[in-house]
Amino acid sequence: MRFISTRGGDVAKNAAEAIVNGLAKDGGLYVPERFPSFKDALAEMVDEDYPTRAVRVLSAFLEEYDREKLYAACCKAYGQFEEGEPAPVVKMDDGYYVMELFHGPTLAFKDVALTLLPYLLREGCNLCGIDDTVLILVATSGDTGKAALEGFKNADGIKIMVFYPGEGVSEMQKRQMSVQEGENVSVLAVEGNFDDCQSAVKRIFSDKEAIRLLKEKNYILSSANSINFGRLCPQIVYYFSAYCDLVGAGEIELGDKVNFVVPTGNFGNILAGWYAKKMGLPIGKLICASNANNILTDFFASGKYDLHRPFFKTTSPSMDILISSNLERLVFECANRDAELTAARMKELAEKKQYTLSARENALLTKEFYANFAGEKEVSETIGNFFEEYDYPLDPHTAVAVAVHNGYVCETGDSKPTVILSTASPYKFPESVLHAMDVSFSGDGFDAAEKLEEETAVPIPMQITRLKTLPIRFAAKAEPNALLKEVLAFIER
Ligand SMILES: *Cc1c(COP(=O)(O)O)cnc(C)c1O
Repeated sequence: MRFISTRGGDVAKNAAEAIVNGLAKDGGLYVPERFPSFKDALAEMVDEDYPTRAVRVLSAFLEEYDREKLYAACCKAYGQFEEGEPAPVVKMDDGYYVMELFHGPTLAFKDVALTLLPYLLREGCNLCGIDDTVLILVATSGDTGKAALEGFKNADGIKIMVFYPGEGVSEMQKRQMSVQEGENVSVLAVEGNFDDCQSAVKRIFSDKEAIRLLKEKNYILSSANSINFGRLCPQIVYYFSAYCDLVGAGEIELGDKVNFVVPTGNFGNILAGWYAKKMGLPIGKLICASNANNILTDFFASGKYDLHRPFFKTTSPSMDILISSNLERLVFECANRDAELTAARMKELAEKKQYTLSARENALLTKEFYANFAGEKEVSETIGNFFEEYDYPLDPHTAVAVAVHNGYVCETGDSKPTVILSTASPYKFPESVLHAMDVSFSGDGFDAAEKLEEETAVPIPMQITRLKTLPIRFAAKAEPNALLKEVLAFIER
């Protein structure tokens, strides 16, 4: 299947090429030429295990990848999750479920895609006949960086460099990245917030001179951010998987509509859900939950994407984002795939910091999505209340989703079965969670984690305890303008 750019200036001949390139050559994002239908496959998928479901969905897009090798890669990737289950669905109440996407190596949902991406990329290079070293540059709001580092560490023919906003990630997230093991990795804090960091990395991708310089040294650039279709595609799988699990457990009948609630930042996770819906999965509403950085809430309400607003640091740092990259793919679809119009809008966003959809487009979106946000106080109260009611500690990102869903039900009375996507383990943010539960503690993040274990009887994941014993390897900080220099120094090492 071919992949076209949202801005009309590039076509990848297959998924392998789209994955290797990451970002389209015209600065747009690759989208599949069409969406395969899974209406008929759904019934058969109910009895399948996760890797089998994954291969079905993946190979519908990644047609040139060998199915057996892909299956082996999925087994290896998802074998790294607790009990080999990357997306178990836990029942809270009748019609109310939490999909736990945080049982992987770094305790956040990004692991689901990033444990598999190294294979997709390596095999993609083989399929495209590329033998240069792949240099992955990642801008992270906290969780992508660690998940990418773990996924790619010591991978043959690949080097990875991760940039995070120096003051914008949690203590545990920072610790996770600064102790990273592996011969082919580097980590750098960047002065500023996530948007500064992401923009600086994007500049390298569009810097022709930099690309030439790297090519001279036999490096090609690629991306592990959710703009890469190789990230998006494995995320489509768990929407299907959750649905099939609910059918299999007799919680719903095949064909019933289910709502999904997604704590959203860069719009990758929820976009994957929308793609699943386009492929025929019976989804009712996709509920887009934001924190105090509620640019998406305003966008869905008014059709206007407007960057003229303050940036807030919240307790859900992985959602502290104003430039939501994957939204471009949605905007492209609701403009009936008008690439010229999409390109013009992205130009307007870059120059005037805003763009506006037509009323018709906006109406289309509000039919499919409900969007709202939860402020810090509400998030904290939600964690406390949820623990009281269900004995279940939510991480602050997931709590944003729960809070927004509560509001949605009050507002609309919609009682369709609902799956909350839980995107991180509470142990990544133990201080915030304890604070919300009104439990005092003293000491650092590790002390907080121990206290949280005492309070909740949910065991501390060994991914956390292990961090304590590892030496700090990366503590450097740089200006956004100095990143290219740092990249060149890294590959010379
Ligand atoms: C990345 C992340 C999100 C946001 O996901 P997007 O795909 O960027 O919308 C939400 N929660 C957690 C814990 C994350 O790491």
